Formats: sequence, C-alpha cells, structure tokens
Amino acid sequence: MMKTDNRKTKVMVDKEKRTPVGQGREKTIVKNRSGICPVADKCGGCSWINQPYAEQLKKKEKQLRELLAPFCKIEGVIPMEHPEHYRNKVHAVFGENRYHDAISGIYEQKSHRIVPVDSCLIENAKADEIIVSIRGLLKSFHIRPYNEDTGYGLLRHVLIRTGHVTGQIMVVLVLASPILPSKNNFVKALLKLHPEITTVVINVNNRNTSMVLGDKEHVIYGKGYIEDELCGKRFRISPQSFYQVNPVQTEILYGKALEYAGLTGKETVVDAYCGTGTIGMIASDKADKVIGVELNADAVRDARNNAKANQIRNIQFYQNDAGKFLVEMAGQGAKVDVVLMDPPRSGSTEEFMSSVVRIGPERIVYVSCNPETLVRDLKYFKKKGYRVAKGVGVDMFPFTEHCEAVTLLTRQKK
Ligand code: SAH
Repeated sequence: MMKTDNRKTKVMVDKEKRTPVGQGREKTIVKNRSGICPVADKCGGCSWINQPYAEQLKKKEKQLRELLAPFCKIEGVIPMEHPEHYRNKVHAVFGENRYHDAISGIYEQKSHRIVPVDSCLIENAKADEIIVSIRGLLKSFHIRPYNEDTGYGLLRHVLIRTGHVTGQIMVVLVLASPILPSKNNFVKALLKLHPEITTVVINVNNRNTSMVLGDKEHVIYGKGYIEDELCGKRFRISPQSFYQVNPVQTEILYGKALEYAGLTGKETVVDAYCGTGTIGMIASDKADKVIGVELNADAVRDARNNAKANQIRNIQFYQNDAGKFLVEMAGQGAKVDVVLMDPPRSGSTEEFMSSVVRIGPERIVYVSCNPETLVRDLKYFKKKGYRVAKGVGVDMFPFTEHCEAVTLLTRQKK
C-alpha cells in the first residue's frame, strides 16, 4: 500500500481555475477526465489517468503475474467497483500567486512551485471542497499563506482525513507558528460552511523541510482524531497515524489477508508493521492471541485505544522496530503460528526475516505495496525453506501504476 503520504496526487478535473496570464487574468476551463488532465504532468500522482480502467487492471495483472511467476500463480487483481475519489486523506499546500492571492494545490514535480488545484479525480470530493473554503476564508481573517522564500505568512498546508463509514472529518491546519489569530471565529466560520467537520487540529511546522507535518499539535475543535470502521471494527485515526488511503479496497485486502492466514482460533499471530492495529484486530476474533509491533508511537497509541474500544483482550501492541522486536522474540524462543507482515514500500529487512525464519511460523501472509521489494523478500524466504503458495493483487490505487499484493508463504516440511 502507499505509505509515502506526502506524495503528489492531485489532478484537476472539472472545475474552473484562475490562472494569472500576462497583465490580466484569464479563466481557464479545465477539461474533465475524458480529456488530458492539465496538471497531470506537473503532478505525477495519476500516471495512468488517460488509460481506461479495464486497461489499467490488465496491465497491473500482467506486471504482477510476471513478477511473481518464479514463485506462484496469482489469482488476478481485484478491481475497485467505482474507482474514483477514493483517497480518504487529502493534502494541499498553500501559497500566494504574484497578485498575492492565496492559492492551494500541489507542488510541481521535483520543485517547490505550487500548481493550483481545486478538485481531483482520486481524492475525497468533500475534502477538496473544504480546502477551497479554507482558502476563501483566509483574506477576511487576515491569514496569509506561508512563503517559503521569505519566511513570511502563516498557513503552510491543509490536511483533511475523512472516515468513510462514519463520515467524520478532521481538518489539520499546518502553521509556521503556533498562533492562529481569531481561531474560534475562524473555526465557527468554517463549520458554518461545512458542519460535517468533526475536529480541527493545529499542527506547527516551523522547520525548513519537505515533511508536511511538524511534531507539535493542539486541538482547537472536537476530539483531535476521527474514527472509521473496517470489517466491522472501529478505528481511531490521529493526524500522524498511518491509515490505508482507500477504505473500500482495504476491506477487500484485509479479507484476502485473513483468508490466506487460515486461522482456526488456536493460533498465536504476529501483526508486524501493524500501524493502528487494523489487520491484527480483525484477525483477533479468529486467533488465540495477537502481538502487534509498530515503530510509530502515535499509531501504537491509537492501536491500544482501538483494542480497548473494540473490547479486544487477546491483542498486545509493542512500539519497536519490527526487526529488533523479532530478534528478541526469536531469542526468547517464542512460538508463533502465523506472521502477518505489511512493511512500507522499502520492504522488510534481513534482520526481521531471518528472525521470522528462526521462529518458523507455519504460514506467513505478506501484504505489500511494492511488488519489487516483495519479490526481493520472497526470494529470501524461498531460500530459507518457505514456499509461496498463492498470491493476489488488490487495486488500491486506481489511475496510478501502484499495485497492492497479498501472498501466502507456507513452511515446507523438513
Ligand atoms: N498494517 C497497517 C500499516 C501498514 S503501513 C495497515 O494496514 O494499516 C506500514 C507501517 O509500518 C507504518 O505504520 C509504518 O509506521 C510502519 N513501519 C515502518 N518501518 C517500520 C519498522 N522498521 N518497524 C516497525 N514498523 C515500521
């Protein structure tokens, strides 16, 4: 899955945008997605925007089939029924044009120039609307977008996270300094336009960095997090926690991961790289116990709260590097039946995988957002006595070249 979340993923579709041209300004009518997206080249998010969805699927399936050919046959790539506006997390960078009007959109690829964008084919449409509304409010509240060159101004980015099932919406205002003038009135005005917003958080990022979020946060409205539901369980999502960006396909992905795990209720399961604990919690009903490990402290805090809120008692979370943690487990002679692993795009590490091999679970379910690192890691497991029994793709990122895959590895009898 996509874990690089400051990716540029915006594509202008059907709204009008104002572009400064020469002395005056001209209105540019942007073509819809049946034409060429005017910012697609600059954005780079939807590299496959001009390919029919059926073609995209065929290509993804072919690629995955070829990559996994040395290991197993794949079941295919599971499509998304309505492959648009799926991203539940939307980011916009703020700045000013040469007339000092506030603009919001994306960074042009490999640059810090801002390309104005109002709506995008793959983003949650409500989130896009909220960003446009925020931009519209700035002038009357005397809030200036931050200027990276001069260091003047306040608002750097807006991040919106939405709960697909719950409808909850979080607005994160990323500021260059902690004080938002007339913040209560600002929130009031924003809520008047979008009463569906459930929480507003200020995040302070005063560093000269390409990271969107800084470390300091304060909640100015609501609970400071949103909740969403996946596979019948409720999950809390903080501004910084990893959460799958395509909730519809995530249920399908997790369903496949569980099917491959083949749990009967007796197993000890490790959920490695567990984020907010989603996969492990969904597995917990069918396992004896689940151990989750995750590096990000916010995600682990969310995971623990999630377990409590869902009254799951047979799961425990550890904040640690997955590799280090597994080395410890192997050293203590831990017994594990199934390892679920879902590493970032860079894949897993030899430290992690060699410890898994030492522990020797019957089955390993490897969920991957990067088939290339998946193949590298499968080679390792194959050398060490595991067989890749089956695999399947899940289209989590329509209109992009990215493909998610789940594979099942089984330990070969000695
Ligand atoms: N399984 C979760 C999260 C997958 S994303 C889900 O489906 O939502 C990958 C996760 O790996 C992220 O939460 C990231 O913080 C975590 N991570 C990255 N490197 C790690 C490491 N070395 N050890 C443990 N977790 C790590």
